[in-house]
Amino acid sequence: PHATSFRKNDIRIILHNVVTLLEPQAVLNNIQIQLEVEGDFPLVESSEMEIKQVFVNILKNAIEAMPGGGMIRIALVAQTNSILIRFNDEGNGIPDNLIPRLGEPFFTTKEQGTGLGLMMCYKIIADHKGSIMINSVVSEGSTFDITLPLSAGE
Ligand code: ADP
Ligand code: MG
Repeated sequence: PHATSFRKNDIRIILHNVVTLLEPQAVLNNIQIQLEVEGDFPLVESSEMEIKQVFVNILKNAIEAMPGGGMIRIALVAQTNSILIRFNDEGNGIPDNLIPRLGEPFFTTKEQGTGLGLMMCYKIIADHKGSIMINSVVSEGSTFDITLPLSAGE
């Protein structure tokens, strides 16, 4: 059994709330956030509080990667037995050799970073039996793909 309660959540609503929460910080940095939803949207058995933490962390990282402003695109795609949440930014990107280290505790490239955000994201998504895939091009931007099964099948 899971430590926190899993319920059938509408991921669109959680995502929408997180975007609203971080919108002021984005605006201050000349960043626009675009949210795109494809298909009929299924509910996902999940911990709302934990998924919210994941979205806040990934979105904050995207904002912090874009000191010059730009666009963050978030897409929600319904798949057969899962959903895909794609976060794409136009930030500074991540060198290939560092990508495998991003989940390590205390790994940070920021002066004021804790290096704990992504570690927590990986843990939460693993608890949901999902995955996080990262694609990035230095100086162009990064894409974080989160896949969540509709049921974590306890
Ligand atoms: P922190 O944000 O405290 O540094 P995280 O675990 O959230 O810790 O992220 C670890 C590192 O991963 C960051 O320091 C940064 O180097 C890199 N990173 C994460 N997200 C992005 C992103 N969207 N663009 C560029 N680098 C990123
Ligand atoms: Mg972070």
